[in-house]
Amino acid sequence: MTTNTTTRTAIVTGASSGIGRATATALATAGFNVVAIARRADQLDSLTIDSAAITALPLDLTTDGAAAQAVQHTLAAFGRIDVLVNAAGYGANAPSESVPPAEWDRLFAINVNAVAHLTSAALPHLLASARDNQVADVVTISSTAGLSAEPGAAAYSSSKFAVRGLMEAWRKEYASRDIRFCTIYPGAVVTEFGKDQQFIRDWYATMKTQGAVAHPDDVARAVLFAATQPAHASVSELTLRPTRQI
Ligand code: NDP
Repeated sequence: MTTNTTTRTAIVTGASSGIGRATATALATAGFNVVAIARRADQLDSLTIDSAAITALPLDLTTDGAAAQAVQHTLAAFGRIDVLVNAAGYGANAPSESVPPAEWDRLFAINVNAVAHLTSAALPHLLASARDNQVADVVTISSTAGLSAEPGAAAYSSSKFAVRGLMEAWRKEYASRDIRFCTIYPGAVVTEFGKDQQFIRDWYATMKTQGAVAHPDDVARAVLFAATQPAHASVSELTLRPTRQI
């Protein structure tokens, strides 16, 4: 472990389902205090019933003031921020000529801007925790679509490329002040991702028949791995595909 006896506190976005939910549970099980953020309060409530170390903050991260609210809530609940996990996001797949400006804006609002706004708001407190506790962590879920752009996913792929750029810039900016930035690039993971989109549902169905899907817990273990390295070691990028995904 990286730390002294202080209980580390993590903010996890996208915690109502999928990768964020599995990550909130994994961190709480590992002894972290967790603030779990997403819009669906009922889903967050079921998470807090399972673990006393998790508190819920129902919040749309694309609204004005959301980042400040997330930080204030966490400081009021636990007094510190040691780890931020940016997992909230969604996928879209459509011919580019049919994607209206409002859809680009909606996708970038959560996949990119919410990551930028919340990380920026958390940074002063992450710096304080790094001074106090040797290290602090930001882990952001990009995608293999953020490493290799796919046709029909220009908006989604470019949003996930943008996250990579943010994280690499921050890593260089804050390395000397002991904040680690880890970008995780998952392949196909069975979650609620793309549940409203026929193309994505069909793709997952195909991947399942090939035994080529990963589980949210697999990604959660990767987050925990990054956030519990010794203070001198930084896992800055990690790609996690199902074994059978090419
Ligand atoms: P899910 O759809 O299961 O989870 C997405 C989460 O984001 C939900 O908790 C949702 O909660 C939250 N969310 C979405 N919009 C907002 C918002 N405006 N404000 C607050 N929370 C929001 O999908 P995954 O777990 O798969 O997705 C997690 C991340 O992993 C995403 O960034 C996705 O792009 C990425 N990813 C997923 C892959 C996969 O195959 N599943 C592969 C590669 C990357 P709520 O609706 O309650 O607000």
